Amino acid sequence: MEDKELLLLDMLSLINEEMDIDAIEERFVNIVSEVFSFDRVGLFFVKHQKEILQGKLCKGFEPGTISSIKIPVAEEFPFTRPLAMGAPLRGSEIEADVFTRKMGLTNYAIIPIVNQKRISCWRLKNCQVTDCPAYGKHGLRCWLMQDAKCCDRSEFAGEDKSELCRICPVFKSHNTNAIEGILLVDNSQSGRPIADKTISILSVIAHAVGIAINNSKAYSHALREAIHDDLTGLHNRRYFNERLLDEVERAKRYGGEISLLLCDIDFFKNVNDTFGHPVGDEVLIWIGKIFRNRLRNTDIVARYGGEEFMIILLNTAKDKAFDIAEDLRCTVAESPLPGNERVKVSISIGIATLGVDANSFDGLIRSADKTMYCAKSRGRNRVCTT
Ligand code: GH3
Ligand code: MG
Ligand code: MG
Repeated sequence: MEDKELLLLDMLSLINEEMDIDAIEERFVNIVSEVFSFDRVGLFFVKHQKEILQGKLCKGFEPGTISSIKIPVAEEFPFTRPLAMGAPLRGSEIEADVFTRKMGLTNYAIIPIVNQKRISCWRLKNCQVTDCPAYGKHGLRCWLMQDAKCCDRSEFAGEDKSELCRICPVFKSHNTNAIEGILLVDNSQSGRPIADKTISILSVIAHAVGIAINNSKAYSHALREAIHDDLTGLHNRRYFNERLLDEVERAKRYGGEISLLLCDIDFFKNVNDTFGHPVGDEVLIWIGKIFRNRLRNTDIVARYGGEEFMIILLNTAKDKAFDIAEDLRCTVAESPLPGNERVKVSISIGIATLGVDANSFDGLIRSADKTMYCAKSRGRNRVCTT
């Protein structure tokens, strides 16, 4: 198989199979650079509520040139124009600005990376001009084809194609929010021309990559949602169960101490009854933050039920777990809810340690449940280990 064919297959697998956004972007830049032999390639993304176009990756530019570029998305910076238009632009159609000068761009093109499906002109307009080169095409867009026979062209007689496209409903149906960023391809050093056909092909590829990036974002989001609690942002019970099961297996096989803390808010029903459910929710969020701030990154904190939290302390013996639990208990008991001094709560914590109180996943949970109820029956706002 030829090198270019292999690169084409690589491009397809990147679009269909790659789920890691950074890997998609890096392979995209490398493949574009190799297939089309540009002097330089750059990748920029829109950030900060679509107000900034930020350089991210490049090939051929001096290291740091592209990643240090942050361009406000505004009229006075023509380099950002393809973001508003959603169509590719050649350098010759863009006035030089401070950023194009900084990058030394004279012979280049900018291709928007669109992340949503776009409707083809012949579908949108129910066009019957079957001998038009855009008719029946799914990937190549009419605005990328100089000889497209736009069916309402007569209304705009005398205008050139790019002007016609800009006011055409097909083009205007695009959503500027659907633009992830831009691909910059540059031949300023070699002076090699960049053909119209190349720009058209790159537009189609950039669109597919934009959709792959969007899919990958949706996948990461779904993955995050599946293992986190909506209210507190902590891990949820499903994640906790899977993780504890794994950690118990690992500790039994390779050694290592695991202590489990089951924390339950005392008289939480009273908080809801006195201050209302929304304030109760704030307390849950606040306690989650205290736990996260005071524990190590390697400790696993999960919301186990309504007002119950589970904490897995890896490589932690019982006496150390007791100190940690006491620290959490005191921190909660000593400070009122920020912004609402009248709301004060305490927590009761039960501790169970693998190898000491139990030797299995179920046994650990049963033990932690028992010690937590022991803390409740001994008057609450305390930590129990037996
Ligand atoms: P104890 O000291 O014995 O634990 O008393 P308690 O009032 O905390 O215990 P109980 O189990 O009787 O009540 C738990 C309360 O937690 C009842 C329920 O309304 C409340 N709760 C559970 N989930 C949520 C939630 O997501 N938000 C709010 N605001 N309250 C919740
Ligand atoms: Mg409870
Ligand atoms: Mg409670």
